[in-house]
Amino acid sequence: MEIVCPDHPLIADLLSRLRDKHTPPHRFREAIRKLSVLLFYEASRDLSTKTVPLNTPLVGTQGRQITSHLGLVPILRAGLGMADGILQMLPEAQVWHLGLYRDEQTLEAISYYNKLSGAEPVEVAVVLDPMIATGGTAVRTVQTLKEWGVQRIKLLGILASQVGLKRLEEAFPHLQVYVCAVDPILDENGYIVPGLGDAGDRQFGTGWGKEV
Ligand code: URA
Repeated sequence: MEIVCPDHPLIADLLSRLRDKHTPPHRFREAIRKLSVLLFYEASRDLSTKTVPLNTPLVGTQGRQITSHLGLVPILRAGLGMADGILQMLPEAQVWHLGLYRDEQTLEAISYYNKLSGAEPVEVAVVLDPMIATGGTAVRTVQTLKEWGVQRIKLLGILASQVGLKRLEEAFPHLQVYVCAVDPILDENGYIVPGLGDAGDRQFGTGWGKEV
């Protein structure tokens, strides 16, 4: 599996703001949006383009236009905050929401919202899920997209755990994954440690997230 984890001061700085338990929701959302754009910059390197003729104020020349038919797949609800910045970069991208939650006891992913059925699959799906913790949600999402007929899938997360990535790799050895950092521990409740708490609660002001 290809794991891209860019070592960059901008990413390190923004990620530290996310980890800090004193960062309020509006700053947390801002950092998630910026980090998502930086990850998408890496993830979009291999999108296909075509040459197009254009005129500068001085001469006729050629430029390039992205031709990949791309779908963003934010996982409700924590993935929502990752979509906006990327849509600003690529406004013609489709957005296909998927709703999954983790069963508190088993930590397995349960699907509760999916409108893919019957629609034309996108050429490239970019899954947006800030926390790859047990890997259960990510595995279920990639399975769902493959069943839909998507040929190329990229997964963008803010943080991953080592065990979550291992589980993903076992299921999908050819997946492309882009994360800001990989943390060593997954606790008994399925939280990433040191982590940043609950990414959904912290974005939407519904809690400060789990304190370790
Ligand atoms: N989901 C979160 O929001 N945080 C974690 O640490 C793990 C899963």
